[in-house]
Amino acid sequence: MEPTVTKTPKRFIAGAVCPACSEQDKLMMWSEDDVPHRECVACGYSDTLNAQGQSVPRELGTRVNQAEVKPKPKVQTVQFFPNPKLKK
Ligand SMILES: [Zn+2]
Repeated sequence: MEPTVTKTPKRFIAGAVCPACSEQDKLMMWSEDDVPHRECVACGYSDTLNAQGQSVPRELGTRVNQAEVKPKPKVQTVQFFPNPKLKK
């Protein structure tokens, strides 16, 4: 028996900004077993969202420096899509 993973079709998130390359409208999103996945078609960045709706980058392993917070060069409106993980 194979576990069945329910996947939703990938679709672009209007207005979403890639956290890696800051391109807009390049993020696609889909769900696998109700776990939201995101992928940037511009730079290849991908992540998933945990139960808190926080980004969990796929490519861990190289050093992840969460402590280093760089100020953004310019003010930018970042839209967050609604978090579907909260109880339905
Ligand atoms: Zn990107």
